[in-house]
Amino acid sequence: MIKENLEQVEKKIEAACKRAGRKREEVTLIAVSKTKPLEMVEEVLDLGIVEFGENKVQEMVDKYERIKSPVHWHMIGHLQTNKVKYIVDKVVLIHSVDSLKLAQQIQKEAEKKSVVVDILIEVNIAGEETKFGVTKEETLPLIEEIAKFPNVHVCGLMTSAPFVEDPEEDRVHFKALHQLFVDIKEKNIDNIDMNILSMGMTNDYEVAIEEGSTMVRIGTAIFGARQYKIEGEA
Ligand SMILES: *Cc1c(COP(=O)(O)O)cnc(C)c1O
Repeated sequence: MIKENLEQVEKKIEAACKRAGRKREEVTLIAVSKTKPLEMVEEVLDLGIVEFGENKVQEMVDKYERIKSPVHWHMIGHLQTNKVKYIVDKVVLIHSVDSLKLAQQIQKEAEKKSVVVDILIEVNIAGEETKFGVTKEETLPLIEEIAKFPNVHVCGLMTSAPFVEDPEEDRVHFKALHQLFVDIKEKNIDNIDMNILSMGMTNDYEVAIEEGSTMVRIGTAIFGARQYKIEGEA
C-alpha cells in the first residue's frame, strides 16, 4: 500500500515538474509521518526516503531515539519556545519560525549546543485567522532581525495554504509566496539564503510545484488518512 502510494506521489511530482519546465531534483519530498507508527516510518525509509516531517516535539524526539538509521527530521508544526531545547540538535530544518521570540530562543539553545540551526520563516500568506505564521508585510523585517543571530540560518520560506476543494484556488497564494521569496532573495542579505520554498501538501502539491515549491510536505497521500486520538496525544 505505502509503496504504491509513494510511486503515485513520485509520478505526480515528476509530471508537475515537467509541466513547469523544472528538474525533478529541484523538489524535495518530505514524508510527513505525524501520528503514524515507527513501522510505517521504517517502511518508507526502506523505500529510499530519508526526509521526514513531524509537527510535535515529543513525537519527533521519540521517533528520533527509536530509529537508528540516519533520518533527516523536519519540524513542521508550531513550536513553543520552551520546547526548542529538545530539538535544536536533532532537526535538519525548522519550517515553522514565525516570531522573533522563537528565533531568539533557537539562537540561545543552538549556541549552548554549538550548532547552527537552519530555519524557514512561516508565512500566513492567505491571512487566515486560524493559522500560524507572519504576514507578508512582517516577513522581511523579521528576517532582517534574525540575520544578526550567528547560530540561526534562514534558508527560505514556508506556508500552509488554505484547505480548499479545488487546489487551483490556492495557486494565487503559492504565486504570492514565490514572489515574496524572489524579492527577498534579490536583497542579498548577509547570513540569509532564499533556497528553500516549502509549500504543498497532499491536497495541493502539484499546483505548489508548478508555482516554484522546492519542498513538498506530504502525509496522507503516502501514509493514508490520520486518526487522531482524543486522549493522550503527544
Ligand atoms: C500534517 C501536515 C502536512 C501534511 O499534510 P497532508 O495533507 O497529510 O499531506 C504538511 N504540513 C504541515 C505543516 C502539517 O502539519
